Amino acid sequence: MDNLTKKQRSKQMRLIRSVDTKPELLVRGILHRLRARYQLHRKDLPGRPDLVFPWRGKIIFIHGCFWHGHLGCRLGRVPKSRVAYWTAKISRNRQRDTAALRLLRRMGWKCLVLWECQLRHGDKVAGRVSRFLSKQY
Ligand SMILES: [Zn+2]
Repeated sequence: MDNLTKKQRSKQMRLIRSVDTKPELLVRGILHRLRARYQLHRKDLPGRPDLVFPWRGKIIFIHGCFWHGHLGCRLGRVPKSRVAYWTAKISRNRQRDTAALRLLRRMGWKCLVLWECQLRHGDKVAGRVSRFLSKQY
């Protein structure tokens, strides 16, 4: 028999989650607590945004620091082998990201980019996400 109440269990699940899970799941957890409804990976939009809030005209990207080339970030550093290959590849990804953001903003979407390294500070990110989603532009 399960000796935890439903509430205790969900608290425990949240704790487990915050330790060992992908950045995107962390953000989805935040959104769940905010009761924000979203769509995932809309292929019809530039850059295939991670989270789309069509009713609010907003979009959130969750970028892995390495693949998306987070400048000045320890996680975004290029490996020491095959430097030219990685530098070119990551730079292409960065250009693609920039182009997608520009297009989306031109289409009228408000965009927020969250970096993997920022998600290590869960509380701060929750605040940012909540402010972003409630802000009236
Ligand atoms: Zn980073």
